[in-house]
Amino acid sequence: MIRPAGFRGAFFGDASDGNGRDDPAARRRISEALGIPTDWAFTEQIHEGTVVVVDEPGFAGRADGLITARSDLPMTIATADCLPIIVEGARSVAVLHAGWRSIAAGIIEAGLSAMAALGDAPLRAAIGPSIGPCCYEVGDEVRSAVGGYGAVTTAGGASVDLWSAAADRLGSLDVWRSDLCTYTDTAYWSYRRDGTKRRQVAVAWVPGR
Ligand SMILES: [Zn+2]
Repeated sequence: MIRPAGFRGAFFGDASDGNGRDDPAARRRISEALGIPTDWAFTEQIHEGTVVVVDEPGFAGRADGLITARSDLPMTIATADCLPIIVEGARSVAVLHAGWRSIAAGIIEAGLSAMAALGDAPLRAAIGPSIGPCCYEVGDEVRSAVGGYGAVTTAGGASVDLWSAAADRLGSLDVWRSDLCTYTDTAYWSYRRDGTKRRQVAVAWVPGR
């Protein structure tokens, strides 16, 4: 469990926290630990660039980002290598599921635009545990889709640095990065390492007064 310092309503779970998106028992445990309601908003994640505005808990459609200005409304995304990104504004918060396809499709820009459309401005962003440049061996099509960010894995293969690709798209925001690689760190599920359907969750919310 990670609560990035300086954030009001941001949580990055690990494998031991369970998948609170799909497992009600894990959702209860996480909610109690965080002191938030046990009903969360979630989506069917499709690796695209759409962000939905949510006002109530439950299923919010097919999208890779959620944003709300409502207080005490937790929103979640589940990941196992893709980047979980939380953007906090003064009155709103967004949580984004940002794999390379979603980054290429503009999920981060869509999250920032959605916050502007709510009349708010982003203050800070957090990039949670996800596959790092140390391990994310990919072909040229991935690097060209996200605009470069070529790197080299610890094994010497050609990789991509999605952490930097995401941080750059967050512009002048203060960006917190976990710098934890899900492929390397076995506290996290990794689709690339395990071929698993299991996921950890990120949760974002606007705290009530
Ligand atoms: Zn790694």
